[in-house]
Amino acid sequence: MSEDIHERQRPVVLEAINAVADRIESEQDHLTELDSAIGDADHGANLTRGFSSVREELEEIEDEPIDAIVKEVGTTLISNVGGASGPLYGGTLLTASQELTDGITAESSVAFAEAYLAKVKDRGDATVGDKTMVDTLTPAVHTYKKSIEEDELPPLTALAKAVDAAERGVEYTVPLKAMKGRASFLGWRSVGHQDPGATSTLYILEELLAVAETHLEGETAVEAVAENVSETDESADDAEATDAEQR
Ligand code: ADP
Ligand code: MG
Repeated sequence: MSEDIHERQRPVVLEAINAVADRIESEQDHLTELDSAIGDADHGANLTRGFSSVREELEEIEDEPIDAIVKEVGTTLISNVGGASGPLYGGTLLTASQELTDGITAESSVAFAEAYLAKVKDRGDATVGDKTMVDTLTPAVHTYKKSIEEDELPPLTALAKAVDAAERGVEYTVPLKAMKGRASFLGWRSVGHQDPGATSTLYILEELLAVAETHLEGETAVEAVAENVSETDESADDAEATDAEQR
């Protein structure tokens, strides 16, 4: 059964990886621009180099289970991204991939997200407010977990809320003084600039959502809805509330 879930979800995972690689490539100049204001202008190039290597690797690993694919993406990013962000984008995937041995479910995706955030914080020793990717990841992961575990929302809705939270996290980095990484060398001069790593992290999450929207609706979301029978009633209430607000 677990093999079956890997078979079914593998094309979606591969599509997500390609979508992220495309997005990073198309945002390369923007990420470089952000990093030139408070860093050394290499963030776009670092990630683009990493993700084009991932794309080259994919053919060799495309028959593997999902956790092995994600692990390999991590390994490739570590050796090809370089800079401070290589281990932060790659090493974290390597560790978090262990949560996907039984494929992607509501439960395993929360565990994956939590493991990813914990590893970033552990590796980079950054906390919320330090003006790093942690400012994007923390609200995103907390929102995702709460939406699934407490609010019992379908994973797709939870992911959309997480992306919203991530977007606010990116905006939150603008007025902050950088406390970690190269940007911290600037001290107060880092204030007023958007953090590049926080921004690329948002792009990655946006692509995961876009792919989930087109594919996972029939899978994890439907399973979650099936478990939560009152879901339809709640959506009807929500729709009424929105109508009322608009009037
Ligand atoms: P480098 O700083 O080596 O040039 P990049 O330019 O690729 O690496 O990445 C810079 C980004 O890395 C920053 O915008 C920030 O989000 C992230 N970053 C830097 N240091 C840390 C850290 N200690 N913890 C978390 N994220 C960090
Ligand atoms: Mg840099």
